[in-house]
Amino acid sequence: MMIRKKTLKSMESIIERLVRDSKKVTILKKMYENCCQICGDSITLLKEIRYSEVHHIQPFNRTHKGIDDIPNMLVLCPNHHQLFDLGILALNPEDHKTLLHLDPKNPLHNKELNLSFHKLSSTCVRYHYEKVFLKLKKELTTTTKKVSK
Ligand SMILES: [Zn+2]
Repeated sequence: MMIRKKTLKSMESIIERLVRDSKKVTILKKMYENCCQICGDSITLLKEIRYSEVHHIQPFNRTHKGIDDIPNMLVLCPNHHQLFDLGILALNPEDHKTLLHLDPKNPLHNKELNLSFHKLSSTCVRYHYEKVFLKLKKELTTTTKKVSK
């Protein structure tokens, strides 16, 4: 079924209100057409309206004090967003575009991110790599040692 452009526009604005993105987040999502910068997927909500999430590389909260700006953002699908938030995925701090996975055998390890429409802050990439990814890696190594004793 075809829906009229006008209907689609008002559906879009209703969903935008529900999702409540900041201006910068909306701009970035539009640039990537809501496609995950890792896998290219997007979720379809209703008709042609697609959904994606924006990840703040250096976490945007009081503890980590990341900036709420485009060089600190990635457009991701919910699955890959979760992996980044947890610190299972990170970006290589040397090139800011290659993925690192805690399990080097994972197919995502060394995969290149789609960075066609914006550049990332090297400070934010390094912060996430050191304070989130390496921190988790260290914790896991300690736990593994304890378990294997
Ligand atoms: Zn994805």
